Amino acid sequence: MRGGIDLGGTKIQAVVVDDASALLGQARLPTPTEGGPADVSEAMAAALREAATAAGVQTGDLTGVGVGSPGAVDEAAGTVSSARNLPGWEGTFALRQDLGGRLGAPVKLGNDVQVATDAEFQLGAAREYDSVLGVFWGTGVGGGLVLDGKPWVGRGSAGEIGHVVVRRDGARCPCGRRGCMEAYAGRGAMEARAYRLHARGEHTVLFDIMRRRGRERLTSGVWARALRAEDPMAVAIMARAIAALGAGVASAQNILDVEAVIIGGGLGVRLGEPYVARIAAAMQPHLFLDARPPQVRLAALGDLGGAVGAALLAQPA
Ligand SMILES: [Zn+2]
Repeated sequence: MRGGIDLGGTKIQAVVVDDASALLGQARLPTPTEGGPADVSEAMAAALREAATAAGVQTGDLTGVGVGSPGAVDEAAGTVSSARNLPGWEGTFALRQDLGGRLGAPVKLGNDVQVATDAEFQLGAAREYDSVLGVFWGTGVGGGLVLDGKPWVGRGSAGEIGHVVVRRDGARCPCGRRGCMEAYAGRGAMEARAYRLHARGEHTVLFDIMRRRGRERLTSGVWARALRAEDPMAVAIMARAIAALGAGVASAQNILDVEAVIIGGGLGVRLGEPYVARIAAAMQPHLFLDARPPQVRLAALGDLGGAVGAALLAQPA
């Protein structure tokens, strides 16, 4: 049995799987919002302990544990640096050693988006393809690549599709630059725009739904409900997001010519097939080879893809 942990900015998802990656136990805990890397590491250990209990084992019995982490992951050194959406994690932390000590099992680290792409490639919606672009549409927009059957990480930072420029001198991106795809399509940027328009007096049900559901953010579920209610502001912001995704993903496709694009992430999974079809349609006018578009598919592993993909890191070589 192997363990997998998807370390996100809002939640930690842990799984225990068997040799064939079948799910034996899982648990989800909120990511600490205060403290530092050691507190996050302890919360990760707690989530995996819970998943192991559900699978009827202890973490020390696992052959290995994989972690999909945000920030700059140095797999060789076993460290994670600059994970800015995690508390007190601006510097470098030896996560492999720290977490391994807590769990009593060997730990391997990988990039969160890359392991989710590998999971779709090995087990999910991209199994039948050799070249795949994974697009993870959530708070930000992350990308992962498998080319000729192998993960492509460049010098360690490949796949940052959220920062493909879709409009020069365009909207301000959370990364500080202008005109990135994420500045239009990331849930964080979409929420910021909704607040701005609302402050200018435009009506929307987005914030009513948010409060009614006891949320502090415009979650994917809040967006889904407002869209179902045909809220004009939600519909307009979403149309802008989809147009940006179409331009950005098609631009990546023009360079890579992959067989398939997999759409995942919180918004992608929540909004599902109709929105995958809309993204494919929005890509079409920007595709150089427009008569031969890639397959555009919804991620098959849903919310657990990141953790199941992380567990793949712990496979015996
Ligand atoms: Zn950016």
